[in-house]
Amino acid sequence: MSRFCAGFQPDAPVVQVRFGPGERHSIGEEVQNLGCARALVLSSPDQEPAARDVAASLGDLAAGVFAGARMHTPVDTSEEAVAYAKSLSADCVVSFGGGSTIGLGKAIALRTGLPQIAIPTTYAGSEATPILGQSEGGVKTTLTDPKVQPQRIIYDPELVATLPIGMTVTSGLNAIAHAAEALYARDRNPLSSSMALEGIRQFAGALPRVVQSPGEIGARGETLYAAWLCGAVLGQVGMSLHHKLCHTLGGSFDLPHAQTHAIILPHAIAYNEAAVPDALAPVAELLRSDSASAGLHALARTLGAPLALKDLGLRESDLDRATDLAMERQYWNPRPLGARHVRQLLQNAWAGSPPEPI
Ligand code: NAD
Repeated sequence: MSRFCAGFQPDAPVVQVRFGPGERHSIGEEVQNLGCARALVLSSPDQEPAARDVAASLGDLAAGVFAGARMHTPVDTSEEAVAYAKSLSADCVVSFGGGSTIGLGKAIALRTGLPQIAIPTTYAGSEATPILGQSEGGVKTTLTDPKVQPQRIIYDPELVATLPIGMTVTSGLNAIAHAAEALYARDRNPLSSSMALEGIRQFAGALPRVVQSPGEIGARGETLYAAWLCGAVLGQVGMSLHHKLCHTLGGSFDLPHAQTHAIILPHAIAYNEAAVPDALAPVAELLRSDSASAGLHALARTLGAPLALKDLGLRESDLDRATDLAMERQYWNPRPLGARHVRQLLQNAWAGSPPEPI
C-alpha cells in the first residue's frame, strides 16, 4: 500500500547528524564548524565523569562543565545553568546524556540563543525535536520552537554500550512509542510514516541482540539509528493518547519517564487500534503478531520490560485522579476519549494485564 498523499510538502530543519563508533571524538570539529570556541558541556550528576572527559578532549574549546541536569527540566535548574553559561561567556552548549540533559541544553538555547551539539546516550530522541518540556511548581508544560532544535547530533554507539539493560529496554520502547503514535497522527505524511515504521523495525531487530550482548557495537549502532528515526517523527507530527497519559503520569505522579512509556504503550495502542487498523497493520506484520498491541506487548515481555504501573509505585487509588487529569484538556486522538474507557486502560496497565480492546 502506498503511503504517498498528494499535497505533501516536506519541510525539515537543517540538522547535521553523524553516526558511528568513535564519532564523539569529532566534537571539537563540530564546535568549530558552528564557529564557536567556548563550549559549555552539560550532563546529569551521574554522568559528570564522562562529561569531564568530553571537556578534556575539547581542550581550549571547553569553557566548563555543568553537571546538574535533572528529569523534566526544572526551570530553576535551567536558570542556574544560563547564569553559569553567561559567567563563562560560553558560545555553545554540548549536551552529553539522555533526554534530561538534552532538555537542559534546549532550555539554555531558548533563553540565550546559543547553538547546541547533542551527544545522546539514551534512545529518548529529544535531540531530534524542536520540543521542550519544562517543569515549575509541580506542573510540566511543553512548547515547540525551532530555537530549541539542536544543530548537530553525534550518535556514537560506544556511548550507549554503558546504558544498563533495564534502561536500554525501556528507553527503546519509549522511542518506539513516538513512532507508533506517529503512524496514526492526524498530520502524518509519507515520510514520517516510512521513518516511523523503519524505526520500529530497526528496534525490533536490534534490541533483542543488545539484551543478549549489551556491548555489541553493531547492534547498539542500529538502536541509535532507530532512535533518531523515532525522535525525528516525534518532532514532525502530533502525538495522542499514549503521550498524553505518560505526560500526566510523569508530571503529576512523578513516575519515571521511560518505564512509564514502556508500560502504557501496548495499552494505548490497543485502545486506538480498531479506529486506525490500516495505519497499525504494518506494525503487527513486522512484529509477526495478530495485532500491533499484542506484538508490542510480546516484544516488551521478551525484552524483560516492566509491565505494571503498580511496580513503579503508583497506587490503585491514584487511578481516578490520573483519569481526570488525562481527560482534563481535550486533545486529538484517532478514537474519541471516554473517561470510563481511559480508566479501564489505566487499570489494565496498573495491574500488568495483557492489553485488550476496551
Ligand atoms: P534521563 O536523561 O533522565 O537519563 C536517565 C538516567 O540514565 C540518568 O540518571 C542518566 O544519568 C543515566 N544515563 C543516561 N545515559 C546513560 C548511559 N549511556 N550510561 C549510563 N547511564 C546513563 O532519561 P531519558 O529517558 O533519556 O530522558 C527523559 C527526559 O527526556 C524526560 O524529561 C522527557 O520528558 C524528556 N524527553 C523530551 C523529548 C522532547 O522531544 N522534548 C523527547 C523524549 C524525552
